[in-house]
Amino acid sequence: MTSQNQRFEQLFQSNVKLSAYSTYEIGGEARHLALPRTIEELSTMLHGARTKGLNPFLFGSGSNTLFPDHPDEEMLFFSLKEHIEFKLLPGRLFVSAGTPMTLLALFGLYTGIDAFDFTFLLPGTLGAGVYMNAKYFSHQISDVLETAYVIDKERPEKGIIPVPLGSCEYGYKNSIFMRMPWIVVGADLKLPVDPKLTPQETDELFAKLKAKNLSTSVLPDYYRHYTNELNVAAKQGFQVRQELLDVIADRGGKLHFDFPSCGSVFKNNYTIGEPMGKLVDRIGLRGTIIGGAMISDHHGNIIQNRGGAKASDIVDLVHLVQEKVEAEFGFVPEPELVIV
Ligand SMILES: Cc1cc2nc3c(=O)[nH]c(=O)nc-3n(C[C@H](O)[C@H](O)[C@H](O)COP(=O)(O)OP(=O)(O)OC[C@H]3O[C@@H](n4cnc5c(N)ncnc54)[C@H](O)[C@@H]3O)c2cc1C
Repeated sequence: MTSQNQRFEQLFQSNVKLSAYSTYEIGGEARHLALPRTIEELSTMLHGARTKGLNPFLFGSGSNTLFPDHPDEEMLFFSLKEHIEFKLLPGRLFVSAGTPMTLLALFGLYTGIDAFDFTFLLPGTLGAGVYMNAKYFSHQISDVLETAYVIDKERPEKGIIPVPLGSCEYGYKNSIFMRMPWIVVGADLKLPVDPKLTPQETDELFAKLKAKNLSTSVLPDYYRHYTNELNVAAKQGFQVRQELLDVIADRGGKLHFDFPSCGSVFKNNYTIGEPMGKLVDRIGLRGTIIGGAMISDHHGNIIQNRGGAKASDIVDLVHLVQEKVEAEFGFVPEPELVIV
């Protein structure tokens, strides 16, 4: 066995339940799973996957991904969520793709920068946020992105390629990253002001942010952990902006974190004039149950796992909503949820 081959084998976990890697808590056993912690490990993994004829499937925190009940044996599921890195540069902050978005809001809390407040309690990694232009009300990742950095899955030997904002083709939950075989490995985010920190204070801040990371797919744990961080910060004398408290009130009020889900299932269709949740309400589908899955009785665009749901239960509810919305409003809603 060559050392390259050995390194590849070490990156693997075998026969892993994907349900532990999605906020739906759904997904059968994957034959192959890898969590590369560095770009070098990622390159080794891609090379090995190609040699072994495996099909790599990339995810982040699995907060927008429905894994299958019976994953394809030839698929290599991999996530960059263990690769968390920050670098402070003049006018910008480099953040690696695996970093949870909510840590950006904590960075803003500790430095007095409000540009990232919208990422607070937005489950998911920066890489996926860049991929699908994650959005909270009127704020989205494209507002703060300066340059994304990608590796071409099909030609990893080309190395890291910068993609400036102007080439990202951003729209509503849409981007060039959704059309290209690219892995986002990090991004430079614009800083409205440079934090006044010494190199040592900067290192301490980044170490503190990494220590705050909670790698979990269990939504109530996620919610408790990060809301509590605001109390901790307040006690340490940091000023907690009202915007962060508003996020807690809004998301808590919509019961976003009470049951396993992936948040909104469908993109809004802005030509219709009403959000998807309202349309689902109007056709009386709130609370509809199939198997272990239910359309939330608080929010028509959220399908929850109410206990033991299968991927097929969620998919059946997705199809039901699509059929009824098409019959009533004349269009087929497009899932925002990534169904593997
Ligand atoms: C309670 C709750 C509330 C939510 N609220 C919001 C919200 O307000 N706004 C919003 O936009 N979303 C929301 N979401 C959905 C989800 O959190 C976001 O879509 C988030 O961006 C997904 O991040 P992730 O890392 O979990 O992505 P995953 O689900 O792991 O992956 C999603 C997609 O991104 C791709 N991807 C992942 N990492 C990379 C990468 N490094 N490079 C290229 N592609 C990549 C994957 O291939 C996949 O297609 C919510 C979800 C939940 C559970």
